[in-house]
Amino acid sequence: MATFGLHFHELALKGGNRSRFERALRNNARRALAEIGPCETRSYMSRVLVTIEADVDPAVIQRRLAQVCGVSYVLRLERLPRDMEAVGRSISADLAARPPGTFRISTRRVDKTFPLLSMEADRDIGAVVVRETGRGVQLKGAAYDYHVSVLKDEVLVGLDRVEGPGGLPVGTGGRVAALMSGGIDSPVAAWRMINRGCHVDLVHFHSFPLVDRTTQEKARDLAETLTRWQYRTRLHMVPLAPIQREIRLHCPEALRVVLYRRFMLRIAERIARGRRCGALVTGESLGQVASQTLENLSTVDAVAQIPVLRPLIGTDKREIIDVARRIGTFDISIRPDQDCCQLFVPNRPATKTTRTDGDVAEADLDVAALVEEAVAAATSEDLIL
Ligand code: ATP
Ligand code: MG
Repeated sequence: MATFGLHFHELALKGGNRSRFERALRNNARRALAEIGPCETRSYMSRVLVTIEADVDPAVIQRRLAQVCGVSYVLRLERLPRDMEAVGRSISADLAARPPGTFRISTRRVDKTFPLLSMEADRDIGAVVVRETGRGVQLKGAAYDYHVSVLKDEVLVGLDRVEGPGGLPVGTGGRVAALMSGGIDSPVAAWRMINRGCHVDLVHFHSFPLVDRTTQEKARDLAETLTRWQYRTRLHMVPLAPIQREIRLHCPEALRVVLYRRFMLRIAERIARGRRCGALVTGESLGQVASQTLENLSTVDAVAQIPVLRPLIGTDKREIIDVARRIGTFDISIRPDQDCCQLFVPNRPATKTTRTDGDVAEADLDVAALVEEAVAAATSEDLIL
């Protein structure tokens, strides 16, 4: 049997909502471990305790728990008798297996009737560890910080801290629909919303059969990776080729990408409404490419009736890549593909369009019918962890 403590920050600030957040966190911890085995969770002193009976390396379980949004860090907990000698020996065994470095003990008396004060417990346990390992104690900046909680009938010792993603538990923030290409940015944008507690539907546009199915395969792989964070994902695939053909035939070349984007937004909004999503999400970052100027973003947004969230708008590419690596989407995103937006792109795309430019450019298109057809041709599938 293994026990883990899930610690969180933001949750602690949520006042009256607190119990709802903890419930979501506990649910998600259970879903995260479902493939390993059933576990028990309980809320405990601004953290959640998870106990699982499984014949699996605790490090594996801990890594899975460290992927639960809302968790700031995960400790593996050792359950010991209320005996400071035993606690000290257990910590010594853990410390002896680690690279050189100082340590400290931080005891918390959850059971206030415990006869030792926390500082006395720190001192007694520390003395055992010094004796057993020869390591030095350092109160500030120790290499290893051991958290000890004294409960009514046992002591919990926290070992092997693993950092979690922070944020809020999935299921506390409503549902949104993210426009996801096969690129680096949009999966990160979708993840950012997951990490704010949202359930995220993914909408992928492809130009099949004008190009092969690579982007669709990437979208599916990305959706699978994101499902590790939100447990269940609906992925919508929408053919854009018929619309792109119309745009190429009837609209000014310089505006093509902006027009593609306007259609994507309209179609995604229709899908979003059918799924009760409160907002759309894109992976745009200001100034990154020609279509991502303030002017073009507002030309695109003009066609949307629900909010368009851009969680990466002020984020640097390097930072986006760091997140992509951390959440596991980067290696999929960099696989070569032919994104629908690279199709028929002009040499000199317009960077300063207005919404009137957009409306005028679309004058010869039957916008409503094109959107309708695309929505009707869209397919969807559910991915479940
Ligand atoms: P990404 O890395 O997310 O593809 P990007 O830097 O390549 O972003 P653009 O190609 O300008 O930027 O796309 C801007 C946004 O439009 C994307 O972040 C995404 O939200 C949406 N988008 C672009 N192409 C597609 C697509 N094929 N399917 C769904 N959404 C798309
Ligand atoms: Mg792209």
